Amino acid sequence: KLDFHRTGNHFLQIPGPSPVPDRVLRAISLPTIDHRGPEFGALGMNILAEIREIFKTAHPVIIYPASGTGAWEAALANTLSPGDPVLMFETGHFASLWAKMAARLGLEPEVLAYDGADEQLPDAPGWRRGVQADLIEDRLRRDRAHRIKAVCVVHNETSTGVTSDIAAVRRAIDAAAHPALLMVDSISGLACADYRHDEWGVDVTVSGSQKGLMLPPGISFNAISPKALEASKSARLPQAYWAWNEILAANQTGYWPYTPSTNLLYGLSEALDMLRDEGLEQVFARHERWAGGIRAAVAAWGLPIQCAQPECYSPVLTGVITPPGVDADALRKLVYQRFDLSLGMGLGKLKGRMFRMGHLGNTNDLTLIAMTAAVEAGLKLSGVPLAGSGVDALTAHFSSLRPDAAA
Ligand code: PLP
Repeated sequence: KLDFHRTGNHFLQIPGPSPVPDRVLRAISLPTIDHRGPEFGALGMNILAEIREIFKTAHPVIIYPASGTGAWEAALANTLSPGDPVLMFETGHFASLWAKMAARLGLEPEVLAYDGADEQLPDAPGWRRGVQADLIEDRLRRDRAHRIKAVCVVHNETSTGVTSDIAAVRRAIDAAAHPALLMVDSISGLACADYRHDEWGVDVTVSGSQKGLMLPPGISFNAISPKALEASKSARLPQAYWAWNEILAANQTGYWPYTPSTNLLYGLSEALDMLRDEGLEQVFARHERWAGGIRAAVAAWGLPIQCAQPECYSPVLTGVITPPGVDADALRKLVYQRFDLSLGMGLGKLKGRMFRMGHLGNTNDLTLIAMTAAVEAGLKLSGVPLAGSGVDALTAHFSSLRPDAAA
């Protein structure tokens, strides 16, 4: 509960759901139409064509009325059979949840993880780093019988603020001359960080509405390659609600086999217009620029960033490790109660040990300066000694660059 009567807007600075632009909210508020009528068919056709540009694919993108977790399940259920071994890489909470889901579905996940040590986080060294493509290559080379049917990785690990090199994973699979499918979770990466479904040879990309696409939660995606579609024809996990074939058949004329999320699709149409008007390259540059500024602020405070590999810094969010004895959840609560600002919490193993600052989607420089000011005040109120002012560092960073320049 807030300590005061709220005026102005809440600062939603978690790494998704991200703030929804007014334009998108207005589109969503239009009257619901007949999802079997001609007007809807035209909307459906349009969206199904345009969404491909965001994934950078010439192939179909399936849209589900579900959160991202549903699309995770859809990716596995459509392509695999009971008992299939799948190779996963634990980069954080979301990668480990996807592996848990694979086990629940009757698959055999084998989970690889970073093989080194970490002084800051001795119990979770891999939760500060990206996917190691060399470990994947090595494991696939040893799988001479090609029992492993899929490699599953998270592009932008939202629990840690680490972005992995997906092209390197593709190269590793190719170097091992292994036929496994490549499945990638880009739920929080898409439309924030560079992503290329076709060029990187991804077979299934899983994504969601509530991050870079700037929509409320509630729709999610499977972008699928011809190879994944072929695999779906012989896959034997139960294919019912998630089945690609029925959806693809209905999508031919812009419809769905069941009731789609009509109003969220109005919002998606609007968001796709906004992203196209700005241009994806500019969208990526804007996120890089924000991320560079926030990292400058954290460096000025003298606190460690959750991501320990600069080449994997996320353009979407920055995780900040709190000093020993400082409960990150208490800090988040304080910032919420005093400043009406929500920060992301430490998930799974990281609970209470770090917080996450979101810098994605429909935000701007001053909003991020406000977030940083609230966090700085919260850290001081929590008795954390700071090396310097993050607000000053961030303001200087933003002042030195045009609003549309990459850092
Ligand atoms: N994967 C990643 C990387 C995520 O960030 C999330 C949610 O934040 C999920 C999966 C789960 O998606 P959802 O909560 O929409 O079901």
